Amino acid sequence: MVAEDEGALRRSPHPPDLLRLHEAIAGLFATQGDWRRAYQHLRSALDIARDGSLRDALTSSYNRRYLDERLYGPFTDAPPRAIALIDLDRFKGVNDTYGHLVGDRVLRRVADLLQEELPPDAFCARYGGEEFVLWLPGVDAGHAVRIVDAARRRVARHPWSELQPGLRVTISAGLAHEAAGPGTPTSPERQLRRADSLLYAAKRAGRNKVAYRDRQSTRLMTHSE
Ligand code: GH3
Ligand code: MG
Ligand code: MG
Repeated sequence: MVAEDEGALRRSPHPPDLLRLHEAIAGLFATQGDWRRAYQHLRSALDIARDGSLRDALTSSYNRRYLDERLYGPFTDAPPRAIALIDLDRFKGVNDTYGHLVGDRVLRRVADLLQEELPPDAFCARYGGEEFVLWLPGVDAGHAVRIVDAARRRVARHPWSELQPGLRVTISAGLAHEAAGPGTPTSPERQLRRADSLLYAAKRAGRNKVAYRDRQSTRLMTHSE
């Protein structure tokens, strides 16, 4: 039996009961005819509900809906920008060996580690299953590589055996950078597809790696940990 994740409350921006509390208080003020206060509490409830609709229920990181809004919405970030598609290595084995509850805790912790030390405007979103996206607007290619590789190292060096003896977790990443310049920039959709094929290259090369394209060649950062 796995104990409740001690980080859950810290990660959750709004405890779920807060929404109901605002709703109930709004109802109370409404019955007294205090519409201004009722409105204020309904607004707070709406803000919490909106934020919740953009968060992943398991990890509290942003979800696919938020990612799609940021990438494909009318106000998407212009280049320079980078996108990294990240996938846990041999994660099925973690579930098979330690059980799905431990697997869930690993996903939560990886999400926390990915969100550490991101520059302003950057964010992490759960893309689905055991895949995450880092969206990095306003960074040049070298900076993007450093950010993603630092995330990879944070995961590899995390003391996973404190969670379960013998547990080890690593991630692989495909990183696609789009430089600023004249001409029509690559669409975020196409940039994501490039990141996906680079992720595949990182997996093929042995995992626990960041793959990116440097001019015409695919470069793989390889590591000893
Ligand atoms: P690879 O290194 O090639 O990515 O291998 P992998 O084992 O990580 O890849 P595979 O696609 O075979 O397995 C992914 C696993 O992720 C299978 C699925 O059960 C697990 N998974 C996806 N979402 C969740 C989740 O929310 N919780 C848990 N515990 N497991 C999940
Ligand atoms: Mg996967
Ligand atoms: Mg995987």
